[in-house]
Amino acid sequence: MKHLFVSIVSKGAKSNTYKFALAKFLLDYSKTQNLKEEDYEISFYEIATKFLEYYWFQECKYKFKQDFNKDKMPVVIRIIQEHCGTEYIADSYEKYFKNRQELQETLIREIEKKCFDNVIPRFQPDEQNEFYQHFYSRAKDGKAYKSSSEKKIILKYEALKFFKKENETLSKILVLEWAKFLEKTNFTPRLISKIELMKDPKRNSLTKFRKILMEMEEECFYCGTKLENTDVHIDHFIPWSYIYEDELWNLVQSCSKCNLIKSDSLPPKDCIEKIVIRNEQRALSKWNSDITDYYENCYKAGFQIVNIENLQCNRA
Ligand SMILES: [Zn+2]
Repeated sequence: MKHLFVSIVSKGAKSNTYKFALAKFLLDYSKTQNLKEEDYEISFYEIATKFLEYYWFQECKYKFKQDFNKDKMPVVIRIIQEHCGTEYIADSYEKYFKNRQELQETLIREIEKKCFDNVIPRFQPDEQNEFYQHFYSRAKDGKAYKSSSEKKIILKYEALKFFKKENETLSKILVLEWAKFLEKTNFTPRLISKIELMKDPKRNSLTKFRKILMEMEEECFYCGTKLENTDVHIDHFIPWSYIYEDELWNLVQSCSKCNLIKSDSLPPKDCIEKIVIRNEQRALSKWNSDITDYYENCYKAGFQIVNIENLQCNRA
């Protein structure tokens, strides 16, 4: 089974990342199940629910490019773009869909209907069905699969046991192969960490930076409001979702209003000069040449630039 899993994720045609997503689904699913000695029936709906999550993060949060074949955008991305737009979304996954449950249902139903006719039967090309049984059959030409009326797979007990036991190792292999595929079309920091997570992150507390930043300056970096100690927010200049780390050279102190407006977007371009000067004054200047590059690449990736009211950066 290990050999089969590795050969599925590392070999064969790669025009999109569905097989990685399906492998991730199987690993994630197995992790949550209690072992009982029987096969597990899994509906396409359940798989589609996780596909939405995986691809929503890649499309709306990380802004990965998925069109490895330039003229062939994966259907799941088309579905997400059609309903959620093509702009970066600052909200968390949970918050975004909390008030859009109907939209979430529509998306899952479309993914369920349109995305699995290739990946599910082709995930096990030798047709031994070692991992699961599916209900597709070959069309007359022997190549294509006829779509199946049974929208489910039956995951074998032995396979579930294997996915559970080897979960950590298999996940590492999967993330590596997925990253190898995406790095061909994506220039983004921390690609591997992003693929590894693909859900709302637990962010580290930034309070340890508060004292240092307030010693540097006592005003909001963006609007210049004098900050009271109780109302100091720590903001990632280059959005956290892009840069994926907490480093002092990228952190600024801000008022709650600016922090809320900016959220996980880019600040106006005028602010680059100000943070560069700040870093020069604070012995953080060795990262300054990177900031401009990060800013440009983050913008090119599709992150929005927000308007900050009473911006002071242009008067730095
Ligand atoms: Zn402010």
